[in-house]
Amino acid sequence: MRPEDFAQKIELAEYEETQRRAIQTKRPSLSHCQDCGEEIPPERQKATAVTRCIGCQEEFESLNKRGMS
Ligand SMILES: [Zn+2]
Repeated sequence: MRPEDFAQKIELAEYEETQRRAIQTKRPSLSHCQDCGEEIPPERQKATAVTRCIGCQEEFESLNKRGMS
């Protein structure tokens, strides 16, 4: 790999990391599910920017997948 390619790769990784952190700080986890209002377990809130309980998240993701195909 050429040095300039390597530098570019590091730059991209740093950029992605910055973006990821920005999203996380902008969107803190909710204490209650935005869909059904059920309490989100604290250990789940810690994971990422969680806005739904497990059940609603699964439903949301399956709907998303169906919508994309
Ligand atoms: Zn829910």
